[in-house]
Amino acid sequence: MSSPFALISLGCSKNLVDSEIIVGHMLAAGFGPKVEPEAAELLFINTCAFIDPAKQEAIDTIIAAGRARDAGDSPASQKIIVAGCLSQRYAKDLVGILPEVDVFMGIDRALDVATIAQACLDGTAERIYTTDVSTYMPDFSTTRFRLTHKHFAYIKVAEGCNHACAYCVIPRIRGRHRSRSQRNIIKEARMMVEQGVKEINLIAQDTTYYGMDKWETRAKKDSGVDSSRGESLSTLLRELNEIEGEFWIRVLYTHPAHWSDELIDTFAQCDKVVKYVDLPLQHISDDILSSMRRMTDGAYIRKLVTDLRERVPGMGLRTTFISGLPAETEEHHAELRDFMEEARFERAGVFPFSKEEGSLAAKMGNQIHHATKKRRANELTMLQSNIADEIGQEMVGQTIRVLVDEPGLARGMWDAPDVDGSIHVDPILPVGEFADVTIVDSIAYELFAEGAQEPDFS
Ligand code: SF4
Repeated sequence: MSSPFALISLGCSKNLVDSEIIVGHMLAAGFGPKVEPEAAELLFINTCAFIDPAKQEAIDTIIAAGRARDAGDSPASQKIIVAGCLSQRYAKDLVGILPEVDVFMGIDRALDVATIAQACLDGTAERIYTTDVSTYMPDFSTTRFRLTHKHFAYIKVAEGCNHACAYCVIPRIRGRHRSRSQRNIIKEARMMVEQGVKEINLIAQDTTYYGMDKWETRAKKDSGVDSSRGESLSTLLRELNEIEGEFWIRVLYTHPAHWSDELIDTFAQCDKVVKYVDLPLQHISDDILSSMRRMTDGAYIRKLVTDLRERVPGMGLRTTFISGLPAETEEHHAELRDFMEEARFERAGVFPFSKEEGSLAAKMGNQIHHATKKRRANELTMLQSNIADEIGQEMVGQTIRVLVDEPGLARGMWDAPDVDGSIHVDPILPVGEFADVTIVDSIAYELFAEGAQEPDFS
């Protein structure tokens, strides 16, 4: 079966886990070695379709791969297989306009990838392998080849989403929320720690909803059941925290609506859980949050931010905001700007509203002119950059724990892999290990510790 293959993984860490499953299954079936795209007999492009720029990136990557094949930069016999969200949602629309693609493969077909790949090489493959509604869920026993650094890994605790945020199409692509069992996740985490993983990143479309889909099922069966006794992010973190070894647990993608006092206490009390929360708030105005269908309002968000800061010492907050949702006025925008100034998030990204085909927000009246959206988003980005600068300067003189990613580069508790900044450290510090370093300088999100080499800005 041996055929060299390559994989280009686009999008977020949730997609990266699917890419790891594709690579794992290909290697287990005897395909390989894994090579660069220009040497591959089979090229997988695992795509994202969250917003228009992500779709465009996916299509550009596909077209570039086709051109490379036509130009002889990659084997003329190379097969191009497009997997992931773009295929899941748009395969039927794209099949006629992207002739360079040999096969479109939906999310649920990741486990059949070797069979599809072989059919593709044999010339017997169909053009499309997708399901209408995704129900797929990887677990501990799913074959996977990790593509991250050896010392950090992602664990997908759930798949899909039960929300109906007006600007988002992910539930249509990824299906309803389904949580893995806590036992299954703990087993995977233990194995990772034994293999030397020092940072476990828990991911899902909505990690704070972890376990709750099962509460609903149980509550429907027996309305007398106390739903608080079900598995939850809190129970999961507490059990992960008991695993022996020196490692961090990081939680990404927490929906603000599902935070509870119990979860805040868990963050405060579990020493292995990093004091960092990824909390996509999206806005602060009641009007806009209501249009977004975020199940939160300004007062709730303000209280949550205050509680997290007061009750979890050393907490760093990362968030995202969407600027320019339909009907956003200058007053709504000013309210968001004032909130960002007052909350001083350690990390924040601001994105202009993207009108996603099939989303509720795309059909709303009062769409904002793209120049206005851009201006507002730029203004908030500039503001956040000044806040980040100030926070960086406040850290000068502090000694903090970091995890070294590569020679001279590390991340602290407030830096999620691939999303946040880095800390420049002494290049002699061993890669994949924790170290305590003293911060001596900062530029925006980049910090410099004692012994770090001068950055080369040339
Ligand atoms: S919580 Fe909202 S934004 Fe996040 S995936 Fe679900 S629907 Fe989309």
